[in-house]
Amino acid sequence: MLEKDAKFLEDTFKKYYFDHFDLIRTPKNPEMREFGYQKFNSGMTRHISLRSDKELHLMLMKNVPSDVYCSNARYSFPNLPMAEKDWQNADLIFDIDAKDLHLPCRANHTAKKCTSCSNVFTNDDVCPQCKATKFETTSVLCNDCISGAKKEVEKLIEILTFDLGINKENITVYFSGNEGFHIHVSDSEYENLDSRHRADLVDYLTFKGAIPETFGAKTNFSKSVFSDLDDKGWLGRVAKSIFSSKSNKPKAEKQIVLEGYPAFKKKIESLQHEIGAHIDPNVTIDVHRIFRMGGTINSKSGLTKMLCTDIAKFNPGMDACFIDDDQVTVLADCPVSFKLKNKKFGPYKKEQVSVPKYAAVYMICKGCATLV
Ligand SMILES: [Zn+2]
Ligand SMILES: [Zn+2]
Repeated sequence: MLEKDAKFLEDTFKKYYFDHFDLIRTPKNPEMREFGYQKFNSGMTRHISLRSDKELHLMLMKNVPSDVYCSNARYSFPNLPMAEKDWQNADLIFDIDAKDLHLPCRANHTAKKCTSCSNVFTNDDVCPQCKATKFETTSVLCNDCISGAKKEVEKLIEILTFDLGINKENITVYFSGNEGFHIHVSDSEYENLDSRHRADLVDYLTFKGAIPETFGAKTNFSKSVFSDLDDKGWLGRVAKSIFSSKSNKPKAEKQIVLEGYPAFKKKIESLQHEIGAHIDPNVTIDVHRIFRMGGTINSKSGLTKMLCTDIAKFNPGMDACFIDDDQVTVLADCPVSFKLKNKKFGPYKKEQVSVPKYAAVYMICKGCATLV
């Protein structure tokens, strides 16, 4: 990133941390957490110990990070090297990213930036200007993608509460600050699970590795007794998905038996995409990760990782945008349009435009604009 753009973002972020420190969600037992941060155009600093909000505030004001992180794990000695930290337990965390849903709308709001000539383009897989084939992709907020991600959040919360017995009060949902949601679970019996057991949990939540026998398939397939629509957990979800309704079940069962075991097996496997929760397995499995902190700015967008109290009503472009609307002039090369604070911006084709600061920050963070 150009030095002048980095300086502009730093000044803007500093103002945010000064004005909106109350939005920051310090986790329970901050003295047992590892903190870390990144600055623009530089690497990660981690293994930091902060004992209070005051120390956190000081760190933000002094370093003005581009991104701020905190461990979901608790340690006896959070500032020591990993092997000496003495891991105690870790909140369960889940990452749902709209990118991973691969919705058909993605091409309409994804821009590609050529790594050779910095030309920004859409759709093509070859830079139209220099014919290079290497590019970075960047995408902007999209209603359909956010709705899709919200559905995944609801799916996940249903499984966490109904199947795993996790108390709803212990589940906190955040908008990630970019194109997804982070779900934090605190004070659950699962906080002691090691990485291997978290991997099993991920398989369960994503409905991975399910076998036909679980849903009633017998060795003599014609004698199978398939699960019912009102069965608990996956049994019921699978039945609902396959049979649609109780009245339809007898007829559908006959058809399944007719098609045979291999077809049923395939059907069960194909349900993963539909009924499994689309979470990033690596995030949940890693018990030593430092994870973006609630209330801090995501430097991929300039938006805040914002607490969502009403996920259905949450509108990221409105509710997670805290940068002011002073006019700023930028050279914008943003081939996709986006909406922030209910205002539409772009597309811009290498043009000088005057936009509110929040839109300028958004485009600079996305690599689609530079200060004039
Ligand atoms: Zn190029
Ligand atoms: Zn989309």
